[in-house]
Amino acid sequence: MSVPLPRSPRREPDGVAPTKGKRWERFARYAVSYYGGVCWICEHGGARQADHVKSVADRPDLAWDLRNIRPAHGAPGNRCPVCHQNCNQLKGPMGIDRARRIIAERMAEGKGARPATRPEPESQAGRPW
Ligand SMILES: [Zn+2]
Ligand SMILES: [Zn+2]
Repeated sequence: MSVPLPRSPRREPDGVAPTKGKRWERFARYAVSYYGGVCWICEHGGARQADHVKSVADRPDLAWDLRNIRPAHGAPGNRCPVCHQNCNQLKGPMGIDRARRIIAERMAEGKGARPATRPEPESQAGRPW
């Protein structure tokens, strides 16, 4: 069940506003502050992205449901200040459980944070959350 479904940006589920644009940004900011910016993936603070617990592809009806949204670290420019992961991007291809395990392993290695190499190029446009 962890295989991500292909998502087309052009086809929105019926009746569900797309989770992007000004309205989404406002809602996402509200959701992040509602949960105190604590990343639901690594459980550290400072997260600025709103992530869906159940993906919009699976549950479009919960796309705008505060209870289905948690803060998460992620690109662009919002790596976790503690474990230095792009939690959301880590979760994307792997699923939450593997992402958490990888974060835990990296933390256990000691530094968790190796000195920042140069940031990967990250596109802001059309990045699926
Ligand atoms: Zn995180
Ligand atoms: Zn973290």
